[in-house]
Amino acid sequence: MNPEQILVFIKQEARQKESENYTFRTFLKRFSAKEIDEKLHRIAKEETEATDCTQCGNCCKKLMASPEPKAIKALSVATGCDSPEAFKEKYLQLSVEDQVYFFRDSPCPLLKGNCCTQYEIRPQSCRDYPNLHKRDFIFRVLSVIGNYGICPIVYHSVERLKKETGFKSSKI
Ligand code: SF4
Ligand code: SF4
Repeated sequence: MNPEQILVFIKQEARQKESENYTFRTFLKRFSAKEIDEKLHRIAKEETEATDCTQCGNCCKKLMASPEPKAIKALSVATGCDSPEAFKEKYLQLSVEDQVYFFRDSPCPLLKGNCCTQYEIRPQSCRDYPNLHKRDFIFRVLSVIGNYGICPIVYHSVERLKKETGFKSSKI
């Protein structure tokens, strides 16, 4: 499958396996957080190394990143805005609930083709995505599963984790 076909496929899979993925979340509770983190971190590292994000860019097209103050400052200079406030005015919106800024539009206005035009100074949330390297996966399965139909790294990592933990897929 080419990169576009993979994105179509995982979107379909996310719909078809919605209920299965919720069951998987419950299934994981029989393991310790440490045990699952060790497996997932290894799997996600392998999947990340095997994936060329420059052929994808789907996270930058579908999600709205949240630049932290330091990134806003650097991005405002790099994009020729007069100030961080001008950058906010041009590209961002404030989430009143969380008091954090998000890009107003998707795809992200800093995306060109499948690549970030400001890759070296991209926000921390972009560096961290898809967050599979973080701890305590079993307590944040829902937020990761929300990206199962968006990010091929998440899709493949979750499917491999199902196999490694002996979870029986409903498709088998
Ligand atoms: S992190 Fe995932 S969604 Fe983003 S570009 Fe890489 S493979 Fe695609
Ligand atoms: S800032 Fe760059 S890495 Fe982050 S969403 Fe925008 S294009 Fe993608």
